[in-house]
Amino acid sequence: MSRPINRTALVTGSSRGIGRAIAERLGREGVLVAVHYARNEEAAEHTVKSIIADGGRAFQVRAEFGVPGDVDTLLEGLRAGLEELAEDVGLDILVNNAAIITSGTALEGTTPELFDRLMAVNARAPFFLTQRALPLLRDGGRIINISSGLTRFANPQEVAYAMSKAALEMIGLHFARYLGPRRITVNTVSPGITDTGHPSLLVPQIREALSNLAAFGRLAEPADIADVVAFLASDDARWITGSVIDASGGTMLG
Ligand code: NDP
Repeated sequence: MSRPINRTALVTGSSRGIGRAIAERLGREGVLVAVHYARNEEAAEHTVKSIIADGGRAFQVRAEFGVPGDVDTLLEGLRAGLEELAEDVGLDILVNNAAIITSGTALEGTTPELFDRLMAVNARAPFFLTQRALPLLRDGGRIINISSGLTRFANPQEVAYAMSKAALEMIGLHFARYLGPRRITVNTVSPGITDTGHPSLLVPQIREALSNLAAFGRLAEPADIADVVAFLASDDARWITGSVIDASGGTMLG
């Protein structure tokens, strides 16, 4: 028997990794999920199929961030999917998760082009997506931004990426104030190193060293982050807004 559809969600970048785990978790709770991706259609289809196999409902939406019209393309796809599958085009949960991650780029190797791309995908797109999604967002809704522990721990190789995430965190602060009267909460989740299949994590020495950065002595699984997002998306989190939630497993506590 299919579960009742009460809420809808858009999870950006949910074809893979943490976004996929968030989409699957929300799907298990009966939320109709828009699975957004940039290029990897096969992976997006995999996420949609896995949600449906688990008794949920989902559809995929393609839109590459950082190109002209990116947010228009995403909102068009979102509306089309909601019109087809939901009672109306209202949105309850927006998760700004999609990002490009620069690992191993030396500080000196950060070109103006890379800097602009990081800002365009990781900060500009979620800002305008959030701004433009407001008319769709129902009162009492949820906006959750996925940042990074790198706004708190220094790693000079990734300063530009960290700057893009620091900008993203401002959405949490300022939109929370703006949307309070509509009971829409806006929060940020900051993961630490999470095992999303990066090849370097297969190297035992690297894996061990990175695992030991967390108090729990292991890497995060995507589900560890998805569970925190699901809590923030729930009614139990109605009194939390404008907050940055550290979900790094106690990384670099000292
Ligand atoms: P992945 O690289 O596994 O997945 C990235 C997702 O974003 C994919 O769905 C991808 O789509 C999409 N995406 C990438 N580029 C673009 C683009 N230009 N336009 C639109 N969508 C795009 O990411 P993770 O799961 O590792 O990370 C998820 C979030 O968590 C990110 O915000 C990241 O910064 C943050 N984070 C991750 C950590 C980690 O250790 N993994 C640690 C701390 C924070 P497609 O499949 O089509 O390429």
